[in-house]
Amino acid sequence: MASESVKVVVRCRPMNQRERELRCQPVVTVDCARGQCFIQNPGAADEPPKQFTFDGAYYMDHFTEQIYNEIAYPLVEGVTEGYNGTIFAYGQTGSGKSFTMQGLPEPSSHRGIIPRAFEHVFESVQCAENTKFLVRASYLEIYNEDVRDLLGADTKQKLELKEHPEKGVYVKGLSMHTVHSVAQCERIMEMGWKNRSVGYTLMNKDSSRSHSIFTISIEIYAVDERGKDHLRAGKLNLVDLAGSERQSKTGATGERLKEATKINLSLSALGNVISALVDGRCKHIPYRDSKLTRLLQDSLGGNTKTLMVACLSPADNNYDETLSTLRYANRAK
Ligand code: ADP
Repeated sequence: MASESVKVVVRCRPMNQRERELRCQPVVTVDCARGQCFIQNPGAADEPPKQFTFDGAYYMDHFTEQIYNEIAYPLVEGVTEGYNGTIFAYGQTGSGKSFTMQGLPEPSSHRGIIPRAFEHVFESVQCAENTKFLVRASYLEIYNEDVRDLLGADTKQKLELKEHPEKGVYVKGLSMHTVHSVAQCERIMEMGWKNRSVGYTLMNKDSSRSHSIFTISIEIYAVDERGKDHLRAGKLNLVDLAGSERQSKTGATGERLKEATKINLSLSALGNVISALVDGRCKHIPYRDSKLTRLLQDSLGGNTKTLMVACLSPADNNYDETLSTLRYANRAK
């Protein structure tokens, strides 16, 4: 039985210029009303398309605004009430992960999930009566299983994961930034994003090789009628995953192959954790198998909410990768 706390949606982007120039054919279709996605094998036109069902399916003409309102909104609302939540974007490089998470400043319908979540958080906390709140942001990257602070004084320094009996798993030395406004959050997001791409020349547009996690932590102090303080704390993790493409199959060698192996390992560790959570019968959730899952341990499972947006290219020349994304997403739901 699918767990209510994990939701998976797919989003198919429009054809890009290169795909149009190559005269690619679309092989992905969706039935939004039923949350279904169909993919036709271009090499076997007589076969029926493969069919998958998700908590939502979005097509080329759907805006991020709609995805946010329909599926991300309740998760972020939960964070403002003191629960933890995580939103992932999964898919091959170029499938629309950053477009979905960071988005574009203009037009406003293309604003990403991250800036929308900032707005949502500040609106909620400012509207709450008799409360004081503290909102803090951090931004890190996991590259080759090394953790780096994208907002730190030294963004190249490798940070260690530690375990505290009460706090759980944390990154030693990760900088936390108190934020008071949406604009401040956006500045921080841009600063961190730049640190990520400038730091590593391999991470250009055709290759995003690291996972990045933007975390907003909220502490809400509510004062009741008797003047007593109540503390609630929620945490929202916004995760842009490394490209899921199987580099090892494309003949990558040396550093590239090492990177690819680590990415594939951590993405499959994440898939295993999510499917164990969804299954509900597993006593052992394999959080310890990767840094990504260890770090997000307190925000996956239990009474937390998880959303995965699996991003797809519609083009026939990406058939294998798109099918593998659909299978991954299908396992997670
Ligand atoms: P990724 O982060 O998965 O590598 P990007 O988000 O950078 O991929 O997307 C690749 C390109 O496709 C970008 O130019 C982006 O603006 C465009 N794009 C992605 N998704 C959409 C969409 N749903 N609508 C319009 N353009 C999109």
